[in-house]
Amino acid sequence: MEPVTRADPVPPTGPGGPSSPPRPERSAVVDLDAVRANVRLIRRAAAPAKLMAVVKADAYGHGALPVARAVLEAGADALGVAHVGEALELRAAGVTAPLLAWLHTVDTDFRTAVARDIQLGVSGWELAPIAEAARELRTTAQVHLKIDTGLGRNGATEEQWPHLVRAAARAESEGLVRVVGVFTHLAVADEPARSETRLQLERFRIAVDTARAAGLRPVLRHAANSPGLFSAADLDRPEDMLLDMVRVGVSLYGLSPFRDRGPERLGLVPAMTLRSTVNAVKEVPAGQGVSYGLTYVTERPTTLALIPLGYADGVPRSGTGGPVRIQGRTYPEVGRVAMDQIVVDLGEPGLAAPEHGLLGAEAVLFGSGSNPSATEWAEAAGTINYEIVTRVSSRVPRAYVDRSADGGALPAAEEEPV
Ligand SMILES: *Cc1c(COP(=O)(O)O)cnc(C)c1O
Repeated sequence: MEPVTRADPVPPTGPGGPSSPPRPERSAVVDLDAVRANVRLIRRAAAPAKLMAVVKADAYGHGALPVARAVLEAGADALGVAHVGEALELRAAGVTAPLLAWLHTVDTDFRTAVARDIQLGVSGWELAPIAEAARELRTTAQVHLKIDTGLGRNGATEEQWPHLVRAAARAESEGLVRVVGVFTHLAVADEPARSETRLQLERFRIAVDTARAAGLRPVLRHAANSPGLFSAADLDRPEDMLLDMVRVGVSLYGLSPFRDRGPERLGLVPAMTLRSTVNAVKEVPAGQGVSYGLTYVTERPTTLALIPLGYADGVPRSGTGGPVRIQGRTYPEVGRVAMDQIVVDLGEPGLAAPEHGLLGAEAVLFGSGSNPSATEWAEAAGTINYEIVTRVSSRVPRAYVDRSADGGALPAAEEEPV
């Protein structure tokens, strides 16, 4: 074996030198302080309504458990997920906060859900098996009845609603369920100019009246998602939108739900940074085809940089042209996104020389501040920022920035009282 004598351009340990931990090859870095700051801003916008933080789909790819802990520390009142399985994982990890799951199948384990104190969304048929589970367990299941006010997905139709509330009132009188909430989901809140949202809120108000007339006393009426919350101020009566609680997902993670307004306009800070390093740099002549299908061909001699993140990592295959930040400049991804890697055209020849330090340089696909955004990748891929962060796959290790937990930058006094 030949001894290595030349200076290695890549630090063998961490970016901070021999004493810092090794830099991960590839990571989705989640800033929990950003999540907490977003929660505090969202709470102020929603007050006096409570905040249910939606942590479904592994907290939109950010990691359900660390995010759940952070949002609760920052004052979220409850957690929301789609599936009972997601709720049970949080319970098993020791999360004791109120937890609501709303999307079920006939195979859902309602018995375990009720036993673990998971609140359950009920659109219709679920009421009977949930009441049955409560009877077997000799307990009372907490449910939120859902009405479809226009989205056309789950939730009782307006025609079914009177029957559902009567059935729920009967189950309540038997002590099997307690209807703690009534909710609906908005269809076009991300387009505040559209009139359907007002119509949905009006139908919801009537549905709540029907539930009360049937003898139910729901204490949590909830409708607003992220776009609903951030457009409530435009309504004559914001409280019709905010109600008793808001169910907020994407903006916890610092992303804007609106096409025409970035997160900074809402005061939000993106929490996830998807990064790796340049793992190969090469000089190529004009006419070099790049990646499968050779859909990109260099027009002049240039330098290409390879980044080891591909569609198996969640970078959309349709995202050709998405931005990558390297050494303070943003370059377009070129050619097809492959399973394991993407290629960036640095736009000029001669950059492969070691003095440019490109081998091992940080490559950021999206993040906060001057980094490209998940929204830009969404635009390149013809999708929405929700999907870009949520689809980052399990092949990319999550890493967490948590200055307040280090006892570092955020003194306890800066935290709002919970
Ligand atoms: C996902 C989801 C939310 C959160 O929506 P955001 O737009 O991410 O805030 C709220 N309610 C329901 C029923 C959902 O499925």
